[in-house]
Amino acid sequence: MAIASDIISLIGNTPLLALKGPSAETGCTILGKAEFLNPGGSVKDRAALSIIEDAEASGALSPGGTIVEGTAGNTGIGLTVVAAARGYRTIIVMPETQSREKQDTLRALGAELVLVAAAPYANPGHYVHTSRRIAEETPGAIWANQFDNIANRRAHVRTTAPEIWAQTEGRVDGFTCAVGTGGTLSGVALGLREKNPDVKIALTDPEGAALYNWFACGELRGEGSSVSEGIGQSRITANLEGLAVDAQYRIPDAEGLAWVRRLNAEEGLCLGLSSGINVAGAVRLAQAMGPGHTIVTILCDSGLRYLSTIWNPEWLAGKGLG
Ligand code: PMP
Repeated sequence: MAIASDIISLIGNTPLLALKGPSAETGCTILGKAEFLNPGGSVKDRAALSIIEDAEASGALSPGGTIVEGTAGNTGIGLTVVAAARGYRTIIVMPETQSREKQDTLRALGAELVLVAAAPYANPGHYVHTSRRIAEETPGAIWANQFDNIANRRAHVRTTAPEIWAQTEGRVDGFTCAVGTGGTLSGVALGLREKNPDVKIALTDPEGAALYNWFACGELRGEGSSVSEGIGQSRITANLEGLAVDAQYRIPDAEGLAWVRRLNAEEGLCLGLSSGINVAGAVRLAQAMGPGHTIVTILCDSGLRYLSTIWNPEWLAGKGLG
């Protein structure tokens, strides 16, 4: 039947989109997994569903329960969509530096939003630690813990990677994306390598994140900064544990933004900056591998989530990126 039983059944099975500009530039076939088409508008719907189903199966989450999470926004939106459809309440803790659009979306969807000041991970006020404390203090609540809960990575092993394999008919040579929790990169890497251990996996890091140096020289150290949201990790999360990559790239915001603009002007896509950084990484991987290869990356979320930031020329100029 061509009828979806509920919104949750619409998560995943996203299209794989040929990216003409990046492909023409490299002589490769560069494909973007259109994760912005998920019901909650991002790649994080997959992790949200997997975390909730895992908590239901273990008995940690009971009917009428509460889900608490610290998030840059997209996981909170995914959790809130799934929670609403299943009758749970959500309390979402987010740094106040994240886009106004994501805050407004969370409130509109019915999440209880707790905004905290941006702080280093070592600070007890950091959004992740705050969300853990709220979960501990709330009766009937679970802490989704996307960074260290490997139900996140499992979603990509079980859904994203097999979809990419099927959509390319097994002809995928390389995969790359940036890391927030690491669930997407690590899970897709595991899932694709299960099918073909020779698939090249590359990390694409924004400036300021520590993983580029970790994979390049074993030092967990970041340099510079990025206005991107949802990516840029400074530690080895449980979702990243055991991941080995074949290459690593560090992408300046200007390079990611140039792809965001080109994909809009030439191909009608309106994307967030993490997608532009991912495409820049896919181009670097394609250049390293040489013409004729098929490279897949993730189009994480829509630019409509950032109309007040990267899609606002005045805001960009204020950040020196105009
Ligand atoms: N892009 C955006 C916009 C995100 O919100 C996230 C999730 N934080 C990512 C990329 C990275 O995904 P992951 O958490 O699976 O590493």
